[in-house]
Amino acid sequence: MTSPIIIAIDGYSSTGKSTFAKAIAKELGYIYIDTGAMYRAVTLFALRNGYVSKNNTIDTESLRKALSRADNPVEITFRTSGPGGISETWMDGENVEGQIRTIEISRVVSHVAAEPMVRQFVDRSLRAIGVRKGVVMDGRDIGTAVFPDAELKIFMTARPEVRARRRYEEMHSRGYETTYEEILDNLSERDYIDTHRRTAPLVRAADAVLLDNSDMNVEDQMAWFRDLLRQRHLCGY
Ligand code: C5P
Repeated sequence: MTSPIIIAIDGYSSTGKSTFAKAIAKELGYIYIDTGAMYRAVTLFALRNGYVSKNNTIDTESLRKALSRADNPVEITFRTSGPGGISETWMDGENVEGQIRTIEISRVVSHVAAEPMVRQFVDRSLRAIGVRKGVVMDGRDIGTAVFPDAELKIFMTARPEVRARRRYEEMHSRGYETTYEEILDNLSERDYIDTHRRTAPLVRAADAVLLDNSDMNVEDQMAWFRDLLRQRHLCGY
């Protein structure tokens, strides 16, 4: 029995981080946390309450007040349902999984996530979840800002056309109406905002292992991952 660790998976939008992270969590019996879902849920909350203007300017003061309501704080959680154990995002007792995956949310989320106070709000929850270790988290700043001491860090990338194609197919299989071009534009815009923001920008941590999965399927990635665990003598491998 080896002691549980924190696995931080960061990288560009739609590089298959969540698919890979879920497969890892399943293999190791770890908890999987989709940190992007938390930023998406905060974005849905901000949009619903009218805190985002047409040009994506955020009313930070109102959003800050609402997120820090002492009497009734906004609660974002994950619940697993169904035989396959699919994890879904809930906000204040409502299942918001479907609503946070739309292209409308994807257009605004990086603007909301660039707000330092939003990042503080999300980071607090993530650090509380990480206390017991045995977690795989995917996001943009997990290995650099949230858990800089994570025992294993992976940074994912893939060619932009491959990423857009995968996201397009995923969106269509879920019944969302979008075009390939719209998705490619959205990915480039989010990458730009995520890598250029002042607070916790997306950057590869010096000690993160790079994984370019452009020409790899999930099985290839898992074989790569098991090798990595063996090399590092981690998790009993
Ligand atoms: O992972 P996903 O694409 O769902 O994330 C949505 C957005 O949330 C990202 O484009 C990024 O702006 C933001 N995000 C972040 N830090 C994280 C996870 C996501 O800024 N750790």
